[in-house]
Amino acid sequence: MGAIGVANSPRPVTLAGAESKRLNATRRGLGISNRQGWRTAPPAIFSHWELPQPGPSHTLLYTRVSKTLPMRRYLFSPDDQDWNNWLLFVEKDDEPLQVKPKYRTLVCPECLQYDRDKVFRRGFDSELRIRARGDIFQTADGFYCVNERLRGIFQKHRIQGMKLKKLGKGGWYVVSLTLRVNADRRVYKTEKDLDGRKFCPLCKRALSVYGIFEFEKQIDSPKAARALFTTVFDREGVHSSPDLLITDDVVKILKEAKIKGGSCDRLWTDEEARTVAAKEKAGAEWRPPGTLILLNGK
Ligand SMILES: [Zn+2]
Repeated sequence: MGAIGVANSPRPVTLAGAESKRLNATRRGLGISNRQGWRTAPPAIFSHWELPQPGPSHTLLYTRVSKTLPMRRYLFSPDDQDWNNWLLFVEKDDEPLQVKPKYRTLVCPECLQYDRDKVFRRGFDSELRIRARGDIFQTADGFYCVNERLRGIFQKHRIQGMKLKKLGKGGWYVVSLTLRVNADRRVYKTEKDLDGRKFCPLCKRALSVYGIFEFEKQIDSPKAARALFTTVFDREGVHSSPDLLITDDVVKILKEAKIKGGSCDRLWTDEEARTVAAKEKAGAEWRPPGTLILLNGK
């Protein structure tokens, strides 16, 4: 386990040209290529997980890689589900949604929005029956939930940035994203709802929000590797969900574990964004290849 300790406390080093080439060659040898969408060698994982003979020299090698390459980040999109799973509300045929008594003091009676952290602290229904496909899904009121299998993977790989709380009887857990970074707030745009209102007259939250993060420059890198994270500010919008971002080392773990339930879109680098813009100007449509990872169990 000594090797992991070294990887977690990297020495500040800079790379000379020759050494940089050597590292690149090694990365290719391990199948970590741009073509496959893997740009970063995660230090702690590779020190004990990928390398054929882990040891201090390998660990140092990958520590150096991680110091010189920016961490790539992916935006997660959950699969659509056939059923609505509500955590805070009860849905009955044509009636308006009813707030469960447990959450009544937390939910705005006008727009049904709430503070997600307060709801998480209050806890969830241990009797609720969940109907969902995959290892991760999103409830109709915007909470991410994971099953026992994915929880085990989070624990095994010490994936950071979230807390889990038990939900229902079927081995599900609600995720609270605790690692939050600064981001460009202008990505979120508000629009009028069907009644022509942009903000709730009671709680002042935005009612309808659109806009997604596409570029690395729009959202900070988290301080931790191997993490799930979100933004420091709330997205707002009725029944919206927080944006779930995932570091590339975690995406790799999820893909290799054949996790099911969504897809991960890599945020574009400045260079990729410039290339896309230049090609668009010239009338060609082009997207950086290998940036979409499907979590489809394959
Ligand atoms: Zn409101």
